[in-house]
Amino acid sequence: MAQYTGYKCSICNKEFLPASVLYTCPHCGGNLDVVINFDQLGHKYQPEDITSRTDYSLWRYLPLLPTSDPGGERTPLHHAGWTPLYSPRKLLRNLGLHRFWLKDEGKNPTSSFKDRASAIVVGRAREIGAEIVVTASTGNAGAALAGMAAAIGQKAIIFAPKTAPQAKVAQLLIYGAEVILVDGNYDAAFDLTVEAAQEFNWYCRNTGYNPFTLEGKKTAAFEIWEQICLDLEEDSKPLCVFVSVGDGNIISGIHKGFKDLFALGWLKQMPRIFGVQSEKSAAIANAYFANTETIIPVSATTLADSISVDMPRDGVRAIRAARDTGGAYLTVADDDIIKGISELGTCGIFCEPAGSAAFVGLKKAISTGMIFEDDPVVVINTGNGLKDIRSAMMAVQVAPIIEPNLKSLKKHLQK
Ligand SMILES: *Cc1c(COP(=O)(O)O)cnc(C)c1O
Ligand SMILES: [Zn+2]
Repeated sequence: MAQYTGYKCSICNKEFLPASVLYTCPHCGGNLDVVINFDQLGHKYQPEDITSRTDYSLWRYLPLLPTSDPGGERTPLHHAGWTPLYSPRKLLRNLGLHRFWLKDEGKNPTSSFKDRASAIVVGRAREIGAEIVVTASTGNAGAALAGMAAAIGQKAIIFAPKTAPQAKVAQLLIYGAEVILVDGNYDAAFDLTVEAAQEFNWYCRNTGYNPFTLEGKKTAAFEIWEQICLDLEEDSKPLCVFVSVGDGNIISGIHKGFKDLFALGWLKQMPRIFGVQSEKSAAIANAYFANTETIIPVSATTLADSISVDMPRDGVRAIRAARDTGGAYLTVADDDIIKGISELGTCGIFCEPAGSAAFVGLKKAISTGMIFEDDPVVVINTGNGLKDIRSAMMAVQVAPIIEPNLKSLKKHLQK
């Protein structure tokens, strides 16, 4: 593991010594970055020391991570990360791009990107001897924490809105977590979790609150570096990364991962990062468009539940991820998110609405002249389509029902 030297506030820049439990900045409430000494790491390792490792999971990056391996070698915990890249010809043609990849985070053990953060936080919980880990979740973060915790027998408690999609609630329960549904939205669940963690001394994983979630999420950037950046030609235009944004922790984590690699001198060209929000949950995009870091809460109503957030908990770093890399924010309509699900489906890729949002964000960027045919692009599908069947069914026509005989089949086929 990498020794971390403390925490640094992303807002007021104050630094804090390593502490077993520290969440947001005690001084201003801003999000904290875990500080790692990359000079030291750069002397110790060459890129080949990482890329030659045979552990095909996020644990291959352990030398660059500030947590130790929690064990569980033969469990799903050790299979988080190292997700596949797809490049279906049909999509390249539809999009008019020469180089396009879709990174499928739906292939993670609990079927979403959130396994990356939860694997690392469970590792951290083990390290500090936390008895109980708790999180608020719209569904995926909870499922990921419940699954990763179950893998090594860690106790977990999950607070989710009672409106969370059934499949996600089923996952929480099946993984044996203590599940508490709140009669309120995600933001209400979030606040209650923070309060409860303080009251009962539970270790809190909340997104945009616990600094270690970012350390897990940054591993997606490490993989993109290994899987794409190292193979781009010297004179290539920078890679463009499209990701959907709710609280803003995934996009911030991806940014941090690229910054870490850059600090090591292992990444030659910083990728451009594009954040995509639903028009109906666009607090971060609104602030980005207004050219400010002051985020005004919205009343989120998007059907993409994973990115439905009133008050984003990691908004400032999320704005910087796009602004500081020459990327941008885009907003997309929920109707287009639904259409995107079926378009990706016909290429064999089944994504939940939040995953489709990133894809239709790219389509909008192409049609509005932000992205050109020679830009290399990767879209991150953050979650598997089976997570939200109701939305999936909105993207398709219902199947016909016929009598089980040839006559009625022929009649149907003639239609
Ligand atoms: C959590 C989540 C997101 C958004 O991540 P944030 O860190 O909240 O911005 C996007 N897609 C899926 C599937 C998610 O579960
Ligand atoms: Zn601060």
